[in-house]
Parts: sequence; structure tokens; C-alpha cells
Amino acid sequence: MDAVIVGAGPTGLYTAVALARRGHRVTVVDRDPGPPATGRWHRRGVMQFHHAHAFRGPVAEILRDEMPDVLDRLLAAGAVVENDPVGRPIALLCRRSTFDAALYAIAAVEPGVSMRVGHADGVRVERGRVTGVIVDGAALDADVFVDATGRNSRFTPRTRTAVDGECGIVYVTRQYRLRDGLPPGPVNAPIGLSLGYDRHFAIAFLHDDRTFSVTFAHDGADSRLRALRRADVFAAAAAAVPGLGEWTEPCRSAPTSDVLPAGRIHNRYRAQTDHAGRPWTPGLVSVGDAVCTTTPLAGRGVTLGLQQARRLVDLLDAGHDIGDITAEFDAWCSDAIRPWFDDHCHSDADRQRRWAGGDVDVTRALPSDLIVAAAAVAPEITASTDPYARMDALPASLESVEPIARAHFARGWRPAPPEGPSRDRLAEICARADRVTGTTAPTSRPAVA
Ligand SMILES: Cc1cc2nc3c(=O)[nH]c(=O)nc-3n(C[C@H](O)[C@H](O)[C@H](O)COP(=O)(O)OP(=O)(O)OC[C@H]3O[C@@H](n4cnc5c(N)ncnc54)[C@H](O)[C@@H]3O)c2cc1C
Repeated sequence: MDAVIVGAGPTGLYTAVALARRGHRVTVVDRDPGPPATGRWHRRGVMQFHHAHAFRGPVAEILRDEMPDVLDRLLAAGAVVENDPVGRPIALLCRRSTFDAALYAIAAVEPGVSMRVGHADGVRVERGRVTGVIVDGAALDADVFVDATGRNSRFTPRTRTAVDGECGIVYVTRQYRLRDGLPPGPVNAPIGLSLGYDRHFAIAFLHDDRTFSVTFAHDGADSRLRALRRADVFAAAAAAVPGLGEWTEPCRSAPTSDVLPAGRIHNRYRAQTDHAGRPWTPGLVSVGDAVCTTTPLAGRGVTLGLQQARRLVDLLDAGHDIGDITAEFDAWCSDAIRPWFDDHCHSDADRQRRWAGGDVDVTRALPSDLIVAAAAVAPEITASTDPYARMDALPASLESVEPIARAHFARGWRPAPPEGPSRDRLAEICARADRVTGTTAPTSRPAVA
């Protein structure tokens, strides 16, 4: 079988290598030329490329099972797999750029995969079926066409129904590198230091090769927090958070990136069939973020992309008609992927409400983040919350323990926020730092290349 895959992100690259290893010929098209021989990979078209990524355990498991050479390459680059007490991976710690570079390097030398730099402008449709992808004006022919073009996927016909919800969170991130021989700051989670306050988050993500990222997430409602985009204000805010400040002390680490903002992030789910179960675009199948985009706070995007890719590869390799494959894949996504989208929409909307000052609403079903939090006082529910947190079980698995969690909240229990500045206090710190340095402050330039 000849396949054209548009998009060389994690989903497209995984799909390409896995298909080639099953004897198929694959052309991967991406407008980005791939990692440069030296220097920083800027990665056109993936806004979040240098934002903090944490890869969940299933990512390491899927790579170990299907592409151990990619996992070995990541480990050789300094990535770390954190295991739970029974030895199962719970997190893969590395930068997104390191992750994509390892996959790209393996794909580039994989017999059966050819990488092509170009922009896919659209598809050629003949007799109601896609028979080519138009790349920089010329058609590429194949037997099947895969759309792995990510969260802003635009090249397929616009008929696909999108269900949307803005997650209402603004991110500000900066990458750092630890100085030689120095350990990271304090940690309280496999990914590093995770501090969930009542109305914002502050997180230090451990990565590969002595690198880490610091991220603030808030709802964007307090305009004083916009100053976090400035390097000096970001540094002052990080220094004011107990624990986090130790990570960013200049004697311990130095920034390696600008301060990177991200906002207006949507949860989005795009089905691929009409009400009668017929593919919108016969001959083409979408996968990864092009199907389901979820809020970054739970770090599920790449896991959901690789889970989809694994399923799609099985269906394509079985050699059925591509129209049947699209319909079958869409039905599988409705059952296995859509529930995560719905879960994110519920949690994000409720978090937005609470971050705006609302209390936990015990008159209706709790969102999953609060059910998981309640395991701190109701250890009997961990038999359900742990498999959900690992993504071994779908969100519906929490339904049976939700009433137990809700009862704790109804009695007045609330998770205690960690020591550190409230959102208002953080906004004051930003405003003060902003006033001190004013307009003369430099823009955020990396201190270390
Ligand atoms: C701020 C932020 C933080 C995140 N943090 C995490 C995290 O911690 N953990 C996690 O698992 N996920 C995280 N995610 C989600 C994760 O980044 C995505 O799930 C992931 O990028 C999806 O991979 P993909 O291969 O499907 O698409 P992408 O990575 O978006 O790749 C799509 C590729 O297609 C190319 N392309 C698009 N259109 C065309 C075209 N017309 N022609 C040619 N090429 C094209 C693009 O250039 C790109 O290279 C985060 C997302 C955001 C926004």
C-alpha cells in the first residue's frame, strides 16, 4: 500500500514508521524542514513546540512496544522514564523538541518512509473520493491519505463537524538549563514541582539533558498578569513562589528560551462521518490533534495522538477499503477518544468557574479533577482514580466513586492549596516588578543559547 501522511508531528511520524515496518510505502509531507543539523529547531506551524510538555506513561509504553529504537534514542539524549512502584511508566521527561527530533531521526532513515518538505494545499477529489494531495501545486498520488496536521488542521474540506470549547487558560512558559553539577529544585510529583493554587498553577517540568520549564497558568482575567510575558517580571514571579524560586535561582540555572505565551486554547473534537456513518471525505482519514485537541493542563495530547495512531495503523494494515477504515476509525474514536474531550470540557468549564471565584458545586456531578483530588481523603476511591489518572480507564470509570468524592466536598472538605502567593498576590508581585523596571526592561532574550 502507498500512503501519504500530511503532518510530521508525533502522530504523523509514528504512523509513518509503524506502517513502513509493516511493509507499506509512506510519504510524509510537512511544511517544516525538520531538525537542523545544529542550533535550535523552530518548528513552523506548531505554536506549542517550545512550551512545556510532560509525556504520560502510555507514551513510553507505546514507544517501547512498537519503536524501542525511538525510546532508546530519547534515553540516550537524556530523557528519563519515571516508573510507578510496580515498575510501569508514569511519565517520560523530555522536551517536545527532543521527542520530535528522535522520532524524526528514525523516520528519516526508515526504509519505506520518504520525507518531503512542502505545504499541502488541499486534496484532489475524483468521483467523490480523494485521489491525491496537492503539495505546492502538484498532486501526490497514493492509495490512502492521512491527515495528521494537528490542532489547526485546515487542509481537509471544511465539512467535518467540530465540537469546540475554549479551555479558558493562559500559559506563560520559559525553558531553563541547570548549571553543571547542580540538581533541580524541590519536587513533589513525577514531572517535577506541581503547585495547584485556588486560581492559578505554577509548575516546574523536568526535561532531558538538565533542562526544565517553568509554567504559570491562569485564566487571563487579571490584566496585571500579562506582564508575566516580560523576562524580568517572570523571574520575579518565579522567585516569589516557595520551591519554584529555588529552581530559577541564577546560581542554579539559566534561561534558554524567551518567555513564551499561549492563550485561547480550545478543546476540539472533529468527527469524520455524517449522521449515516459515511465518511465526509472518502479516501482520507484524520488522526491525532486533527481529530481531538485537549487542554494542555492534563498533558494528554500526545498520548491521545499515539493511541489513535496505533489503532489507525492496525486498521490500515488490515487492508480494508479506506472508506470503511475511516468509518471504523471514527466509530472507535467516538468510543475511546471523545470521552477524554468531554471530560476536558467539563473540567475546564468548572475550573474557569472556580478560578473566577465560584465554590465547588456539590449540586451536580463533580468534574474529574475534583474526584481525583478527593482520593487524598478517601483512599478507597484510588482503585478507580489511579487507572483513570494513568489513562488505563476512560473517564466513565470515575462515575461509581463520584458520589463518595462529592460527599467529602459537601461536608466542606477542600484540597489545601500549597504555600505561596494567591493569584491576587502574584498579580501584585507582577505589577510591582513591572513598575520597577518599567518600559526600559529588555524583552525576554535567552541568556544561554
Ligand atoms: C501550550 C500547549 C502545551 C501542551 N502540553 C502538552 C503536554 O504537556 N503533554 C502532551 O501530551 N501534550 C501537550 N500538548 C498537546 C500536544 O502538543 C499535541 O497533542 C501534539 O502536538 C499533537 O501532535 P500531532 O502530531 O497530532 O500534531 P502537531 O504536533 O500539531 O503536528 C502537525 C504537523 O502538521 C504540519 N502541517 C499542518 N498543516 C500542514 C499543511 N497544510 N501542509 C504541510 N504540513 C502541515 C505542521 O507543521 C506540524 O508539523 C500541549 C499543547 C499546547 C498548545
